[in-house]
Amino acid sequence: MALMRCPACGNQVSSNATTCPQCGHPLKKGGGGLTFWGVVGAIIVAVIIISVVG
Ligand SMILES: [Zn+2]
Repeated sequence: MALMRCPACGNQVSSNATTCPQCGHPLKKGGGGLTFWGVVGAIIVAVIIISVVG
């Protein structure tokens, strides 16, 4: 568990926090966006494969 700095208010918050407890600014978690697009990409690839196969 590490501390990171809130980009909005500069408060030190836990890297596990999704929002800053002081100002409520949403904090980006490393890899979260990649996971979302990974799921979307996998679904698109699956749909293409299914439509091609049959
Ligand atoms: Zn903040």
